[in-house]
Amino acid sequence: MHKTDIIEHNVSLKPFNTFGIAVKAKNFIAVSSVDKLKEVLQLKTYPQKFVLGGGSNMLLTQDIEALVIKIDLKGIDIILKENDFTYVKVAAGENWHQFVQWAIGKDLGGLENLSLIPGNVGTAPIQNIGAYGVELKDIFHSCEALDANTLEPVSFTREDCRFAYRDSFFKRNKGKYIITSVTFRLTSNNHNINISYGAIGAELQKQGIKNPNIRQISNAVINIRESKLPNPKELGNSGSFFKNPVVPTSVFETLKKTYPEIPHYTVSATEVKIPAGWLIEQCGYKGKRYGDAGIHKNQALVLVNYGNASGKELWDLALKIQQSVKEKFNILIEPEVNVY
Ligand SMILES: Cc1cc2nc3c(=O)[nH]c(=O)nc-3n(C[C@H](O)[C@H](O)[C@H](O)COP(=O)(O)OP(=O)(O)OC[C@H]3O[C@@H](n4cnc5c(N)ncnc54)[C@H](O)[C@@H]3O)c2cc1C
Repeated sequence: MHKTDIIEHNVSLKPFNTFGIAVKAKNFIAVSSVDKLKEVLQLKTYPQKFVLGGGSNMLLTQDIEALVIKIDLKGIDIILKENDFTYVKVAAGENWHQFVQWAIGKDLGGLENLSLIPGNVGTAPIQNIGAYGVELKDIFHSCEALDANTLEPVSFTREDCRFAYRDSFFKRNKGKYIITSVTFRLTSNNHNINISYGAIGAELQKQGIKNPNIRQISNAVINIRESKLPNPKELGNSGSFFKNPVVPTSVFETLKKTYPEIPHYTVSATEVKIPAGWLIEQCGYKGKRYGDAGIHKNQALVLVNYGNASGKELWDLALKIQQSVKEKFNILIEPEVNVY
């Protein structure tokens, strides 16, 4: 456990990032209120600030000189009930999966496919988290943030956030806003059941479930994720390290001549998404290990820390993979993870 609302020094960030990288924060504070957040953002002693959520989407390659501000704002409130929808306001420091489970417990729908994604609720809009055919934008109503310069509160509607695949206004304006709460619009009944993506249908069938409720969908997603993805508590990782590249259809058609089996998803009439994991696998990296840095044996998209890899070692490996994919396919795969 860490203290809240007190600045500490030389704090190891190993427990605070899912890669388990042992860098230090020269200065560290966990904030439990928006007022405290405002107060520390104004501190002239620490001109540089570094916002930390659940640490599940970052690779730390060096000690952090800036003041690390861990977002520990808590609270889940139902703010409005309509006939078919319930609006829930959630503080940024709530754990995402715990919130998903809270909603399912209240029979509020829309989040079930996003079960077991690590991290904080307040970070979820930044890369518009997504899994199994659902993205955050599908249930997002609005969010509150602080302007990091003026410290004024700012509200963002769904449109303001300009959500796209693993992308948003916040991602393109990194560091300018600190999200303090997110409001969701969840279904109170007539849930939109979405089981067409990935292995959910097969998993439910295995369990003999024909008309699943949201709890059963959540459990199916949890089962699939647990069987496919390494648990960061057992093996340090940050989920998918690279984004799936979206290429012009003409590029895809040319590749298909050499690789007829190339997996793909049509994005639009002119664009195709190719799984980065497949590209990496073709370059021979799946399951490779270099010291304590490696590529997961089942998921070529997941870089792993077998124990004491440094962030620099993992980043060097990521660059090597990126270069190999570029040389073999002439496609640039870009990191999904934030590298510091
Ligand atoms: C095993 C595993 C599986 C994963 N699966 C998925 C998946 O299926 N789908 C998916 O989309 N992602 C997935 N991820 C990635 C990750 O869970 C998400 O990106 C998550 O939203 C990150 O949240 P966090 O709080 O841990 O972010 P952090 O890593 O703490 O921060 C990420 C970035 O956001 C900034 N930030 C943090 N909090 C705030 C705030 N309140 N306001 C403004 N900026 C902030 C940080 O400065 C940093 O730049 C997975 C990760 C792991 C480890």
